[in-house]
Amino acid sequence: MRTQEQSDREIQQEAEYSLMASHLLEYLFCPRFIYFENYLDIPQHEEKRFKVQKGRTIHEDKMRVNPQYLRKKLGCIERKKSVYLSSTTTGMRGIVDEILFLNDGTAAPLDYKYAEHKDLTFKNHRYQLTFYGQLIREHFEVPVNRGFIVYTRSRNKFIEVIITDQMYSELDKIISDLLKIIQMGIYPKPTKYKARCPDCCYRNICEKVI
Ligand code: SF4
Repeated sequence: MRTQEQSDREIQQEAEYSLMASHLLEYLFCPRFIYFENYLDIPQHEEKRFKVQKGRTIHEDKMRVNPQYLRKKLGCIERKKSVYLSSTTTGMRGIVDEILFLNDGTAAPLDYKYAEHKDLTFKNHRYQLTFYGQLIREHFEVPVNRGFIVYTRSRNKFIEVIITDQMYSELDKIISDLLKIIQMGIYPKPTKYKARCPDCCYRNICEKVI
């Protein structure tokens, strides 16, 4: 079973420059974290990794949503699994667990989380879906205005997420900030949430906590 991070690392090795969903999650944890890891190239220490909710890749044949349910409830007419997508303009890349093509002419990402459904992490997962939504609409040239998450540790709870224009705008802003940090070395502000620092592997070099 590969973690999302392992998949991201493999993709990153193929590409000259990449922005992965894991960058987005790390940015949401703390923009300065991105600076240490990706601009200064200081590796995270495994034993002190912060607990980003990357989730695990679920085994191919397990935990898949019943196709009849998708067809009847959502009008799914086509389903693609483990789709690698990339954007030449932004460098965004990733593997979408599933893409559902719906009978209203739209498409939607479906993401499996090896996690429980919790309010705290749900915000991050919504942004991750928006990230995949952006890749899908660029690649397939179809509207993407919703996505789905299956929380496999909450009895396969199936959640629909509406992806609004505002979420796409917020994603654009985050991608632009990420590029400024990673490519230009612009030193970002720290997280507003002090409670995150004790768990952070860069706390010994970050002036916020020194
Ligand atoms: S120590 Fe705190 S402010 Fe500094 S990088 Fe880590 S989470 Fe961000």
